[in-house]
Amino acid sequence: MKKSEDRLRLVIDTIPTLVWRAGPDGVPDFLNQPALDYTGLSSDQVETGWPRAFHPDDKKAMLVKWSRIRQSGLPGELEARLRRFDGEYRWFLFRADPLRDDLGNIVKWYGSSTDIEDRKRAEEALRESEQRFRDYAETGSDWLWETMPDHRVVSISEHVNTVGFKPSGLAGVFRWDIAADVESEPEKWRQHRAMLDAHLPFRDFEYTLNGTGSPIYVRTSGKPFFDAKGKFLGYRGTGTDITATIRADQAERALREAQAELAHVTRVTMLGELTASIAHEINQPLAAAVANAEACLRWLDRDTPDLTAARRSVEWVIDDSCRASEVIKRVRALAKKSDIERLPLDVNDVINEAIVLVKRELSSHLVSLHTELAPSLPTILGDRVQLQQVIINLLMNGIEAMLPITDRSRVMVIRSSRDETSRVVISVTDCGVGISAGNANRLFNAFFTTKSSGMGMGLSICRSIVEAHGGRLSASGNEGPGAMFQFVLPSQQEEVS
Ligand code: ADP
Repeated sequence: MKKSEDRLRLVIDTIPTLVWRAGPDGVPDFLNQPALDYTGLSSDQVETGWPRAFHPDDKKAMLVKWSRIRQSGLPGELEARLRRFDGEYRWFLFRADPLRDDLGNIVKWYGSSTDIEDRKRAEEALRESEQRFRDYAETGSDWLWETMPDHRVVSISEHVNTVGFKPSGLAGVFRWDIAADVESEPEKWRQHRAMLDAHLPFRDFEYTLNGTGSPIYVRTSGKPFFDAKGKFLGYRGTGTDITATIRADQAERALREAQAELAHVTRVTMLGELTASIAHEINQPLAAAVANAEACLRWLDRDTPDLTAARRSVEWVIDDSCRASEVIKRVRALAKKSDIERLPLDVNDVINEAIVLVKRELSSHLVSLHTELAPSLPTILGDRVQLQQVIINLLMNGIEAMLPITDRSRVMVIRSSRDETSRVVISVTDCGVGISAGNANRLFNAFFTTKSSGMGMGLSICRSIVEAHGGRLSASGNEGPGAMFQFVLPSQQEEVS
Protein backbone atom coordinates (compact mmCIF):
# COMPACT_ATOMS: atom_id res chain seq x y z
CA MET A 1 0.00 0.00 0.00
CA LYS A 2 2.71 2.42 1.08
CA LYS A 3 4.77 1.45 -1.94
CA SER A 4 1.99 2.08 -4.42
CA GLU A 5 1.14 5.38 -2.71
CA ASP A 6 4.78 6.45 -3.05
CA ARG A 7 4.74 5.50 -6.70
CA LEU A 8 1.60 7.53 -7.32
CA ARG A 9 3.12 10.44 -5.45
CA LEU A 10 6.18 10.21 -7.70
CA VAL A 11 4.01 10.33 -10.80
CA ILE A 12 2.03 13.33 -9.54
CA ASP A 13 5.20 15.20 -8.61
CA THR A 14 6.96 14.57 -11.90
CA ILE A 15 4.27 15.21 -14.52
CA PRO A 16 4.99 18.55 -16.18
CA THR A 17 1.66 20.03 -15.04
CA LEU A 18 0.66 21.94 -11.95
CA VAL A 19 -1.75 19.72 -10.03
CA TRP A 20 -3.88 21.00 -7.21
CA ARG A 21 -6.66 19.84 -4.95
CA ALA A 22 -9.31 21.77 -3.06
CA GLY A 23 -12.09 21.05 -0.63
CA PRO A 24 -15.80 21.33 -1.59
CA ASP A 25 -15.60 24.96 -0.34
CA GLY A 26 -12.93 25.70 -2.92
CA VAL A 27 -10.07 26.17 -0.47
CA PRO A 28 -6.89 24.54 -1.82
CA ASP A 29 -5.23 21.95 0.40
CA PHE A 30 -2.64 20.35 -1.89
CA LEU A 31 -0.21 21.32 -4.65
CA ASN A 32 2.11 18.92 -6.44
CA GLN A 33 5.86 19.58 -6.55
CA PRO A 34 5.86 21.38 -9.91
CA ALA A 35 3.10 23.70 -8.57
CA LEU A 36 5.12 24.41 -5.42
CA ASP A 37 8.26 24.94 -7.49
CA TYR A 38 6.50 27.26 -9.90
CA THR A 39 4.90 29.47 -7.25
CA GLY A 40 7.78 29.17 -4.80
CA LEU A 41 5.34 28.18 -2.07
CA SER A 42 6.02 25.60 0.61
CA SER A 43 3.40 22.94 1.28
CA ASP A 44 2.12 24.69 4.40
CA GLN A 45 1.51 27.97 2.48
CA VAL A 46 -0.87 26.37 0.00
CA GLU A 47 -4.18 27.50 1.50
CA THR A 48 -3.53 31.25 1.37
CA GLY A 49 -0.54 31.34 -0.96
CA TRP A 50 -2.19 29.73 -3.97
CA PRO A 51 -5.13 32.21 -4.26
CA ARG A 52 -2.69 35.11 -3.74
CA ALA A 53 -0.53 33.91 -6.66
CA PHE A 54 -3.24 34.93 -9.15
CA HIS A 55 -2.74 38.17 -11.04
CA PRO A 56 -4.62 41.01 -9.26
CA ASP A 57 -6.45 41.88 -12.53
CA ASP A 58 -7.65 38.29 -13.01
CA LYS A 59 -8.42 37.39 -9.42
CA LYS A 60 -12.00 38.67 -9.20
CA ALA A 61 -13.14 37.02 -12.43
CA MET A 62 -11.35 33.81 -11.43
CA LEU A 63 -13.13 33.65 -8.06
CA VAL A 64 -16.54 34.27 -9.65
CA LYS A 65 -15.92 31.58 -12.25
CA TRP A 66 -14.50 29.14 -9.70
CA SER A 67 -17.55 29.48 -7.48
CA ARG A 68 -19.84 28.98 -10.51
CA ILE A 69 -18.02 25.76 -11.41
CA ARG A 70 -18.41 24.53 -7.84
CA GLN A 71 -22.10 25.42 -7.84
CA SER A 72 -22.64 23.54 -11.08
CA GLY A 73 -20.92 20.47 -9.66
CA LEU A 74 -19.59 19.80 -13.17
CA PRO A 75 -16.10 19.84 -14.59
CA GLY A 76 -15.11 23.33 -15.70
CA GLU A 77 -12.19 25.49 -16.75
CA LEU A 78 -10.94 29.04 -16.64
CA GLU A 79 -7.95 31.07 -17.77
CA ALA A 80 -5.89 33.35 -15.54
CA ARG A 81 -2.35 34.56 -14.95
CA LEU A 82 -0.35 32.94 -12.17
CA ARG A 83 2.75 34.44 -10.51
CA ARG A 84 5.97 32.53 -10.75
CA PHE A 85 8.38 32.39 -7.81
CA ASP A 86 10.45 35.17 -9.46
CA GLY A 87 7.47 37.51 -9.78
CA GLU A 88 6.73 36.92 -13.49
CA TYR A 89 3.12 36.15 -14.43
CA ARG A 90 2.24 33.52 -17.01
CA TRP A 91 -1.12 32.51 -18.44
CA PHE A 92 -2.55 29.14 -17.31
CA LEU A 93 -5.57 27.09 -18.21
CA PHE A 94 -7.13 25.74 -14.98
CA ARG A 95 -9.25 22.60 -15.22
CA ALA A 96 -11.25 21.29 -12.26
CA ASP A 97 -13.02 17.93 -11.82
CA PRO A 98 -15.22 17.01 -8.83
CA LEU A 99 -14.66 13.77 -6.87
CA ARG A 100 -17.87 12.39 -5.36
CA ASP A 101 -18.49 9.86 -2.56
CA ASP A 102 -20.88 6.94 -2.80
CA LEU A 103 -23.84 9.23 -2.03
CA GLY A 104 -22.87 11.58 -4.83
CA ASN A 105 -21.63 14.39 -2.56
CA ILE A 106 -18.58 16.25 -3.78
CA VAL A 107 -15.70 15.54 -1.45
CA LYS A 108 -12.83 17.08 -3.36
CA TRP A 109 -12.01 19.07 -6.46
CA TYR A 110 -8.99 17.94 -8.45
CA GLY A 111 -7.43 20.25 -10.88
CA SER A 112 -4.61 20.73 -13.36
CA SER A 113 -3.12 24.01 -14.54
CA THR A 114 -1.45 24.07 -17.94
CA ASP A 115 0.92 26.81 -19.00
CA ILE A 116 -0.71 28.50 -22.07
CA GLU A 117 1.52 31.58 -22.13
CA ASP A 118 2.89 30.67 -25.59
CA ARG A 119 -0.59 30.06 -26.97
CA LYS A 120 -1.75 33.38 -25.50
CA ARG A 121 1.22 35.15 -27.07
CA ALA A 122 0.47 33.53 -30.44
CA GLU A 123 -3.17 34.56 -30.14
CA GLU A 124 -2.14 38.08 -29.26
CA ALA A 125 0.27 38.22 -32.21
CA LEU A 126 -2.47 36.91 -34.48
CA ARG A 127 -4.93 39.50 -33.21
CA GLU A 128 -2.35 42.20 -33.65
CA SER A 129 -1.53 41.05 -37.16
CA GLU A 130 -5.20 40.92 -38.08
CA GLN A 131 -5.68 44.42 -36.66
CA ARG A 132 -2.67 45.63 -38.60
CA PHE A 133 -4.07 44.42 -41.92
CA ARG A 134 -7.49 45.73 -40.99
CA ASP A 135 -5.91 49.14 -40.35
CA TYR A 136 -4.19 49.08 -43.75
CA ALA A 137 -7.38 48.05 -45.50
CA GLU A 138 -9.57 50.53 -43.66
CA THR A 139 -7.29 53.48 -44.29
CA GLY A 140 -7.18 52.63 -48.00
CA SER A 141 -10.93 52.21 -48.37
CA ASP A 142 -14.28 52.86 -46.72
CA TRP A 143 -15.45 49.33 -45.98
CA LEU A 144 -14.41 45.68 -46.23
CA TRP A 145 -16.51 42.88 -47.66
CA GLU A 146 -16.49 39.16 -48.24
CA THR A 147 -18.54 37.06 -50.66
CA MET A 148 -19.33 33.37 -50.97
CA PRO A 149 -18.36 31.08 -53.87
CA ASP A 150 -21.64 32.08 -55.60
CA HIS A 151 -20.68 35.77 -55.10
CA ARG A 152 -23.36 36.56 -52.52
CA VAL A 153 -22.26 38.88 -49.71
CA VAL A 154 -21.37 37.05 -46.48
CA SER A 155 -20.12 39.98 -44.48
CA ILE A 156 -19.51 43.65 -44.89
CA SER A 157 -18.09 46.11 -42.38
CA GLU A 158 -20.11 48.77 -40.57
CA HIS A 159 -18.81 51.66 -42.64
CA VAL A 160 -21.03 50.67 -45.53
CA ASN A 161 -23.76 52.60 -43.72
CA THR A 162 -22.14 55.81 -44.98
CA VAL A 163 -23.69 54.99 -48.36
CA GLY A 164 -27.04 54.20 -46.85
CA PHE A 165 -26.84 50.42 -46.40
CA LYS A 166 -27.02 48.32 -43.25
CA PRO A 167 -24.47 45.48 -43.20
CA SER A 168 -27.23 43.07 -42.15
CA GLY A 169 -29.39 44.18 -45.08
CA LEU A 170 -26.67 43.18 -47.54
CA ALA A 171 -26.14 39.59 -46.39
CA GLY A 172 -26.96 37.16 -49.18
CA VAL A 173 -27.19 39.92 -51.79
CA PHE A 174 -25.38 40.02 -55.16
CA ARG A 175 -23.46 43.16 -56.10
CA TRP A 176 -25.58 43.51 -59.24
CA ASP A 177 -28.75 43.39 -57.15
CA ILE A 178 -28.00 46.70 -55.50
CA ALA A 179 -26.28 48.40 -58.49
CA ALA A 180 -28.22 51.02 -60.43
CA ASP A 181 -26.30 50.80 -63.71
CA VAL A 182 -26.68 47.14 -64.67
CA GLU A 183 -29.11 47.95 -67.48
CA SER A 184 -27.39 51.07 -68.71
CA GLU A 185 -23.94 49.44 -68.79
CA PRO A 186 -24.47 45.78 -69.63
CA GLU A 187 -21.01 45.29 -71.13
CA LYS A 188 -19.22 46.54 -68.03
CA TRP A 189 -21.21 44.13 -65.85
CA ARG A 190 -20.80 41.23 -68.25
CA GLN A 191 -17.03 41.64 -68.07
CA HIS A 192 -17.12 41.99 -64.29
CA ARG A 193 -19.14 38.80 -63.84
CA ALA A 194 -16.88 36.92 -66.24
CA MET A 195 -13.94 38.02 -64.10
CA LEU A 196 -15.65 36.75 -60.95
CA ASP A 197 -16.56 33.44 -62.53
CA ALA A 198 -12.96 33.01 -63.62
CA HIS A 199 -11.93 33.64 -59.97
CA LEU A 200 -9.58 36.44 -60.99
CA PRO A 201 -8.73 39.41 -58.82
CA PHE A 202 -10.22 42.73 -59.88
CA ARG A 203 -9.24 46.30 -59.11
CA ASP A 204 -11.12 49.61 -59.15
CA PHE A 205 -14.40 48.36 -60.53
CA GLU A 206 -16.74 51.35 -60.49
CA TYR A 207 -20.50 51.22 -60.33
CA THR A 208 -23.48 53.22 -59.19
CA LEU A 209 -25.86 52.67 -56.31
CA ASN A 210 -29.30 54.16 -56.02
CA GLY A 211 -28.88 56.66 -53.23
CA THR A 212 -31.67 58.65 -51.73
CA GLY A 213 -32.32 61.05 -54.57
CA SER A 214 -28.93 61.19 -56.26
CA PRO A 215 -26.73 58.31 -57.37
CA ILE A 216 -23.81 57.15 -55.26
CA TYR A 217 -20.63 56.10 -57.01
CA VAL A 218 -18.66 53.21 -55.59
CA ARG A 219 -15.22 51.83 -56.40
CA THR A 220 -14.45 48.29 -55.32
CA SER A 221 -11.51 45.88 -55.56
CA GLY A 222 -11.47 42.22 -54.63
CA LYS A 223 -9.26 39.14 -54.43
CA PRO A 224 -10.38 35.53 -54.61
CA PHE A 225 -9.42 33.29 -51.68
CA PHE A 226 -8.99 29.51 -51.57
CA ASP A 227 -8.67 26.78 -48.95
CA ALA A 228 -5.47 24.78 -48.41
CA LYS A 229 -6.47 22.38 -51.17
CA GLY A 230 -7.04 25.21 -53.63
CA LYS A 231 -10.83 25.13 -53.52
CA PHE A 232 -12.38 28.53 -54.30
CA LEU A 233 -14.12 29.97 -51.22
CA GLY A 234 -15.14 33.43 -52.37
CA TYR A 235 -13.81 36.96 -52.62
CA ARG A 236 -12.56 39.44 -50.07
CA GLY A 237 -12.19 43.08 -50.88
CA THR A 238 -12.69 46.72 -50.14
CA GLY A 239 -15.19 49.36 -51.22
CA THR A 240 -14.93 53.15 -51.37
CA ASP A 241 -17.50 55.88 -51.86
CA ILE A 242 -16.14 57.98 -54.74
CA THR A 243 -19.24 60.14 -55.21
CA ALA A 244 -17.46 63.35 -54.18
CA THR A 245 -14.62 62.78 -56.67
CA ILE A 246 -16.99 61.92 -59.50
CA ARG A 247 -19.17 64.95 -58.79
CA ALA A 248 -16.11 67.23 -58.79
CA ASP A 249 -15.05 65.76 -62.16
CA GLN A 250 -18.51 66.28 -63.59
CA ALA A 251 -18.60 69.86 -62.34
CA GLU A 252 -15.22 70.55 -63.88
CA ARG A 253 -16.25 69.05 -67.20
CA ALA A 254 -19.46 71.09 -67.19
CA LEU A 255 -17.42 74.20 -66.47
CA ARG A 256 -15.03 73.47 -69.33
CA GLU A 257 -17.92 72.90 -71.71
CA ALA A 258 -19.58 76.12 -70.60
CA GLN A 259 -16.32 78.00 -71.20
CA ALA A 260 -15.96 76.51 -74.66
CA GLU A 261 -19.55 77.40 -75.41
CA LEU A 262 -18.99 80.94 -74.26
CA ALA A 263 -15.84 81.29 -76.35
CA HIS A 264 -17.75 80.00 -79.35
CA VAL A 265 -20.61 82.44 -78.83
CA THR A 266 -18.22 85.35 -78.38
CA ARG A 267 -16.44 84.47 -81.58
CA VAL A 268 -19.66 84.32 -83.55
CA THR A 269 -21.15 87.49 -82.11
CA MET A 270 -17.96 89.48 -82.50
CA LEU A 271 -17.73 88.51 -86.13
CA GLY A 272 -21.43 89.31 -86.62
CA GLU A 273 -21.18 92.73 -85.02
CA LEU A 274 -18.07 93.64 -86.95
CA THR A 275 -19.71 92.61 -90.22
CA ALA A 276 -22.84 94.60 -89.48
CA SER A 277 -20.95 97.78 -88.70
CA ILE A 278 -18.60 97.48 -91.69
CA ALA A 279 -21.54 96.76 -93.98
CA HIS A 280 -23.41 99.77 -92.67
CA GLU A 281 -20.49 102.18 -93.04
CA ILE A 282 -19.61 101.04 -96.53
CA ASN A 283 -23.09 100.56 -97.86
CA GLN A 284 -23.93 104.19 -97.53
CA PRO A 285 -21.14 105.66 -99.76
CA LEU A 286 -21.56 102.76 -102.19
CA ALA A 287 -25.26 103.48 -102.57
CA ALA A 288 -24.43 107.15 -103.12
CA ALA A 289 -21.82 106.20 -105.72
CA VAL A 290 -24.31 104.09 -107.60
CA ALA A 291 -26.91 106.87 -107.52
CA ASN A 292 -24.37 109.40 -108.80
CA ALA A 293 -23.15 107.07 -111.54
CA GLU A 294 -26.75 106.57 -112.70
CA ALA A 295 -27.25 110.35 -112.69
CA CYS A 296 -24.11 110.69 -114.78
CA LEU A 297 -25.51 108.26 -117.36
CA ARG A 298 -28.74 110.23 -117.51
CA TRP A 299 -26.80 113.49 -118.19
CA LEU A 300 -24.89 111.74 -120.98
CA ASP A 301 -28.01 110.10 -122.44
CA ARG A 302 -29.71 113.45 -123.05
CA ASP A 303 -30.19 114.51 -126.66
CA THR A 304 -27.60 117.08 -125.93
CA PRO A 305 -25.42 115.49 -123.27
CA ASP A 306 -24.76 117.82 -120.33
CA LEU A 307 -21.08 117.18 -119.94
CA THR A 308 -20.63 119.62 -117.08
CA ALA A 309 -23.31 117.91 -115.00
CA ALA A 310 -21.96 114.49 -115.98
CA ARG A 311 -18.48 115.50 -114.90
CA ARG A 312 -19.88 116.78 -111.57
CA SER A 313 -21.63 113.42 -111.01
CA VAL A 314 -18.44 111.50 -111.76
CA GLU A 315 -16.57 113.72 -109.28
CA TRP A 316 -19.19 112.80 -106.68
CA VAL A 317 -18.74 109.11 -107.53
CA ILE A 318 -15.04 109.56 -106.86
CA ASP A 319 -15.79 111.31 -103.54
CA ASP A 320 -18.17 108.52 -102.51
CA SER A 321 -15.63 105.85 -103.39
CA CYS A 322 -12.95 107.68 -101.47
CA ARG A 323 -15.26 107.77 -98.46
CA ALA A 324 -15.81 104.02 -98.76
CA SER A 325 -12.11 103.36 -98.95
CA GLU A 326 -11.62 105.75 -95.99
CA VAL A 327 -13.93 103.50 -93.99
CA ILE A 328 -11.92 100.48 -94.97
CA LYS A 329 -8.72 102.28 -94.04
CA ARG A 330 -10.20 103.20 -90.66
CA VAL A 331 -11.23 99.61 -90.00
CA ARG A 332 -7.76 98.43 -90.89
CA ALA A 333 -6.19 101.10 -88.70
CA LEU A 334 -8.49 99.95 -85.90
CA ALA A 335 -7.40 96.39 -86.42
CA LYS A 336 -3.75 97.42 -86.49
CA LYS A 337 -4.12 99.60 -83.39
CA SER A 338 -4.74 96.54 -81.24
CA ASP A 339 -1.12 95.51 -81.58
CA ILE A 340 -0.74 91.78 -81.42
CA GLU A 341 0.61 90.36 -78.23
CA ARG A 342 3.89 88.56 -78.51
CA LEU A 343 4.34 85.97 -75.85
CA PRO A 344 6.27 82.70 -75.95
CA LEU A 345 3.78 79.98 -76.91
CA ASP A 346 3.79 76.25 -77.38
CA VAL A 347 1.94 75.78 -80.65
CA ASN A 348 0.57 72.41 -79.49
CA ASP A 349 -1.18 74.11 -76.57
CA VAL A 350 -2.73 76.64 -78.92
CA ILE A 351 -3.91 73.83 -81.20
CA ASN A 352 -5.43 71.86 -78.32
CA GLU A 353 -7.27 74.90 -77.04
CA ALA A 354 -8.65 75.65 -80.48
CA ILE A 355 -9.82 72.05 -80.84
CA VAL A 356 -11.87 72.37 -77.64
CA LEU A 357 -13.71 75.28 -79.22
CA VAL A 358 -14.75 73.35 -82.33
CA LYS A 359 -15.56 70.07 -80.55
CA ARG A 360 -19.25 70.73 -80.86
CA GLU A 361 -19.09 71.38 -84.61
CA LEU A 362 -16.94 68.31 -85.14
CA SER A 363 -19.34 66.00 -83.39
CA SER A 364 -22.53 67.55 -84.76
CA HIS A 365 -21.20 67.11 -88.32
CA LEU A 366 -19.79 63.64 -87.64
CA VAL A 367 -16.25 64.69 -88.38
CA SER A 368 -13.41 62.88 -86.67
CA LEU A 369 -10.31 64.93 -86.06
CA HIS A 370 -6.90 63.30 -85.67
CA THR A 371 -4.00 65.13 -84.12
CA GLU A 372 -0.40 64.45 -85.00
CA LEU A 373 1.46 66.91 -82.81
CA ALA A 374 5.23 66.73 -82.74
CA PRO A 375 6.58 66.74 -79.18
CA SER A 376 8.92 69.43 -77.87
CA LEU A 377 8.53 71.95 -80.66
CA PRO A 378 10.44 75.20 -80.42
CA THR A 379 8.35 77.94 -78.78
CA ILE A 380 7.11 80.77 -80.96
CA LEU A 381 6.32 84.38 -80.13
CA GLY A 382 2.72 85.25 -80.78
CA ASP A 383 -0.80 86.17 -79.86
CA ARG A 384 -2.57 83.15 -78.44
CA VAL A 385 -6.11 84.33 -79.27
CA GLN A 386 -5.31 85.38 -82.83
CA LEU A 387 -3.50 82.14 -83.62
CA GLN A 388 -6.42 80.23 -82.18
CA GLN A 389 -8.66 82.16 -84.54
CA VAL A 390 -6.53 81.05 -87.49
CA ILE A 391 -6.72 77.40 -86.46
CA ILE A 392 -10.44 77.58 -85.71
CA ASN A 393 -11.05 79.13 -89.14
CA LEU A 394 -9.07 76.44 -90.93
CA LEU A 395 -10.86 73.71 -88.98
CA MET A 396 -14.28 75.25 -89.65
CA ASN A 397 -13.46 75.56 -93.37
CA GLY A 398 -12.41 71.91 -93.38
CA ILE A 399 -15.65 70.84 -91.71
CA GLU A 400 -17.68 72.89 -94.20
CA ALA A 401 -15.73 71.46 -97.15
CA MET A 402 -16.66 67.94 -96.00
CA LEU A 403 -20.37 68.57 -95.50
CA PRO A 404 -21.28 67.36 -99.04
CA ILE A 405 -19.31 64.13 -98.42
CA THR A 406 -21.61 61.24 -97.63
CA ASP A 407 -19.90 58.22 -99.21
CA ARG A 408 -16.80 58.19 -97.01
CA SER A 409 -15.99 59.10 -93.46
CA ARG A 410 -15.27 62.71 -92.71
CA VAL A 411 -11.76 62.77 -91.40
CA MET A 412 -9.54 65.72 -90.70
CA VAL A 413 -5.94 65.76 -89.50
CA ILE A 414 -4.19 68.58 -87.74
CA ARG A 415 -0.41 68.32 -87.60
CA SER A 416 2.40 70.25 -86.04
CA SER A 417 6.06 69.77 -86.88
CA ARG A 418 9.31 71.63 -87.32
CA ASP A 419 10.96 72.20 -90.66
CA GLU A 420 14.65 72.00 -91.46
CA THR A 421 15.19 75.63 -90.39
CA SER A 422 13.47 74.99 -87.03
CA ARG A 423 10.37 76.88 -88.01
CA VAL A 424 7.08 75.53 -86.74
CA VAL A 425 4.68 74.15 -89.33
CA ILE A 426 0.96 73.67 -88.66
CA SER A 427 -1.30 72.03 -91.20
CA VAL A 428 -4.98 71.16 -91.43
CA THR A 429 -5.91 68.48 -93.95
CA ASP A 430 -9.44 67.51 -94.86
CA CYS A 431 -10.98 65.09 -97.34
CA GLY A 432 -13.69 67.45 -98.53
CA VAL A 433 -14.59 68.92 -101.90
CA GLY A 434 -11.05 70.13 -102.56
CA ILE A 435 -9.92 73.25 -104.38
CA SER A 436 -10.52 73.72 -108.09
CA ALA A 437 -7.64 75.05 -110.18
CA GLY A 438 -9.69 78.12 -111.01
CA ASN A 439 -10.24 79.08 -107.39
CA ALA A 440 -6.79 78.26 -106.11
CA ASN A 441 -5.34 81.73 -106.36
CA ARG A 442 -8.45 83.59 -105.25
CA LEU A 443 -9.09 81.79 -101.96
CA PHE A 444 -7.21 84.34 -99.89
CA ASN A 445 -8.87 87.35 -101.49
CA ALA A 446 -11.21 89.21 -99.18
CA PHE A 447 -14.86 88.48 -99.96
CA PHE A 448 -14.07 85.48 -102.14
CA THR A 449 -16.49 82.76 -101.17
CA THR A 450 -18.19 79.79 -102.84
CA LYS A 451 -20.67 79.42 -99.97
CA SER A 452 -24.19 80.82 -100.07
CA SER A 453 -23.85 82.20 -96.57
CA GLY A 454 -20.09 82.74 -96.68
CA MET A 455 -18.46 86.08 -96.16
CA GLY A 456 -15.16 85.24 -97.76
CA MET A 457 -13.21 87.01 -94.99
CA GLY A 458 -11.89 84.01 -93.08
CA LEU A 459 -8.84 83.11 -95.13
CA SER A 460 -7.87 86.70 -95.77
CA ILE A 461 -7.97 87.46 -92.04
CA CYS A 462 -6.01 84.27 -91.36
CA ARG A 463 -3.38 85.27 -93.84
CA SER A 464 -2.94 88.73 -92.31
CA ILE A 465 -2.68 87.27 -88.81
CA VAL A 466 -0.08 84.74 -89.93
CA GLU A 467 1.89 87.38 -91.81
CA ALA A 468 1.77 89.72 -88.80
CA HIS A 469 3.51 86.87 -86.97
CA GLY A 470 6.22 86.81 -89.60
CA GLY A 471 4.81 83.61 -91.09
CA ARG A 472 3.23 82.32 -94.31
CA LEU A 473 -0.16 80.70 -94.97
CA SER A 474 -0.69 78.60 -98.07
CA ALA A 475 -3.16 76.12 -99.51
CA SER A 476 -2.68 73.08 -101.65
CA GLY A 477 -4.94 70.55 -103.24
CA ASN A 478 -4.69 67.20 -101.61
CA GLU A 479 -3.23 64.02 -103.04
CA GLY A 480 -6.57 62.34 -102.65
CA PRO A 481 -9.72 64.33 -102.34
CA GLY A 482 -9.75 67.36 -100.10
CA ALA A 483 -7.40 70.22 -99.34
CA MET A 484 -4.55 71.12 -97.06
CA PHE A 485 -3.97 74.51 -95.48
CA GLN A 486 -0.62 75.09 -93.89
CA PHE A 487 1.14 77.89 -92.11
CA VAL A 488 4.72 78.30 -91.01
CA LEU A 489 5.77 80.43 -88.04
CA PRO A 490 9.30 81.48 -87.09
CA SER A 491 10.54 80.14 -83.76
CA GLN A 492 11.11 82.47 -80.83
CA GLN A 493 14.85 81.86 -81.18
CA GLU A 494 14.85 82.93 -84.82
CA GLU A 495 12.84 86.06 -84.05
CA VAL A 496 15.03 87.07 -81.17
CA SER A 497 18.22 86.63 -83.16
P1 ADP B 1 -15.90 81.57 -96.26
O1 ADP B 1 -15.61 80.36 -95.46
O2 ADP B 1 -16.78 82.54 -95.60
O3 ADP B 1 -16.30 81.26 -97.64
P2 ADP B 1 -13.03 81.83 -96.35
O4 ADP B 1 -12.15 82.99 -96.69
O5 ADP B 1 -12.69 81.14 -95.11
O6 ADP B 1 -14.50 82.36 -96.37
O7 ADP B 1 -12.91 80.79 -97.51
C1 ADP B 1 -12.99 81.25 -98.87
C2 ADP B 1 -13.29 80.11 -99.77
O8 ADP B 1 -12.18 79.25 -99.87
C3 ADP B 1 -14.44 79.26 -99.39
O9 ADP B 1 -15.69 79.78 -99.78
C4 ADP B 1 -14.13 77.96 -100.13
O10 ADP B 1 -14.54 78.02 -101.48
C5 ADP B 1 -12.63 77.93 -100.14
N1 ADP B 1 -12.13 77.05 -99.11
C6 ADP B 1 -11.69 77.42 -97.89
N2 ADP B 1 -11.30 76.33 -97.19
C7 ADP B 1 -11.49 75.24 -97.98
C8 ADP B 1 -11.29 73.84 -97.84
N3 ADP B 1 -10.81 73.31 -96.71
N4 ADP B 1 -11.58 73.03 -98.89
C9 ADP B 1 -12.07 73.54 -100.03
N5 ADP B 1 -12.30 74.86 -100.21
C10 ADP B 1 -12.01 75.72 -99.22
